[in-house]
Amino acid sequence: MVLLEVGQATYQKIRNGEISDSELVELTTKLVGFDHHIYQANKKVAELNSRGADSNSIICPSCQTPNSVDAKFCGGCGAKVEVATKVELSGEETCVKCEEAIPSGANFCPCCGTKAIG
Ligand SMILES: [Zn+2]
Ligand SMILES: [Zn+2]
Repeated sequence: MVLLEVGQATYQKIRNGEISDSELVELTTKLVGFDHHIYQANKKVAELNSRGADSNSIICPSCQTPNSVDAKFCGGCGAKVEVATKVELSGEETCVKCEEAIPSGANFCPCCGTKAIG
């Protein structure tokens, strides 16, 4: 993890224009992909944690019965148990560096910190 921190620090410097070694810049390009990978992994973990241990079931908010992910109604009580679908962000832009989606209104990429164009 120390190595990663050093990498991050170097990466920050390059981004700030403090270092302009072409080799390092090339390395940074690779780091961006790595960054993105970690970001996605963390996001996935958070997603799984928020969903509970069993990610293959939806727990009914009314009676706590586990239902399959594609269930629309609870098998226990008939309540609607649709998975909260991702809110479609209109006007969302994509990070030029790591291709992570930047929510509209955000000025920087939530993944790598690159300034959003729009
Ligand atoms: Zn239920
Ligand atoms: Zn990014």
